[in-house]
Parts: sequence; C-alpha cells; structure tokens
Amino acid sequence: MTFTFRETTQRSAAPVTVDHDKCIADKGCTVCVDVCPLDLLAIDPDTGKAYMKFDECWYCMPCAKDCPTGAVRVEIPYLLR
Ligand code: SF4
Ligand code: SF4
Repeated sequence: MTFTFRETTQRSAAPVTVDHDKCIADKGCTVCVDVCPLDLLAIDPDTGKAYMKFDECWYCMPCAKDCPTGAVRVEIPYLLR
C-alpha cells in the first residue's frame, strides 16, 4: 500500500472544492491559486480547472472571496465555526 502525504487523493473530500462549471481557469484565470497564502491550489492540467492540490487549509477564505465566478467553496470544519 502506498500513501501520498498531504496530497489530496479524493478531491471531493478536500475542504476546498471548485465547481467545474463555474471555474474559468481554462480561460486564463489563476486568482485562487495566486491568493492562497499556503499555495494549496493549482490548475489541473487534465481538466483545465482549479483544484485543491494539498489538503491543508487555514480557512482564511480569499480563494473563495476573490474568485470572479464564485466557483470556490470552502467547507469549514464544524469545530472551527
Ligand atoms: S481558505 Fe485560505 S488557505 Fe484555504 S485554500 Fe483558500 S486561500 Fe488557501
Ligand atoms: S479563481 Fe475561480 S475561476 Fe479563477 S481559477 Fe480559481 S476557481 Fe477558477
């Protein structure tokens, strides 16, 4: 069995998810990738859309706030609310 430390393997389980229908990364947008202070987000070359590459989050929210199309959803854990 192999483990991939910190890299998200199940994208739907990551705290930050991106609505592919709304994401316009394939038109050149990289806002969420640029604003994340931890560099957790990336553009998936396969889909041309943004996704959470590293499952580690400060829940600081600029990725969601600054996304021009509202494609980013940050799922804040219950204990942090
Ligand atoms: S909430 Fe903050 S740390 Fe988490 S992905 Fe968005 S910008 Fe990065
Ligand atoms: S900011 Fe929004 S539209 Fe731009 S790459 Fe990120 S998710 Fe896609």
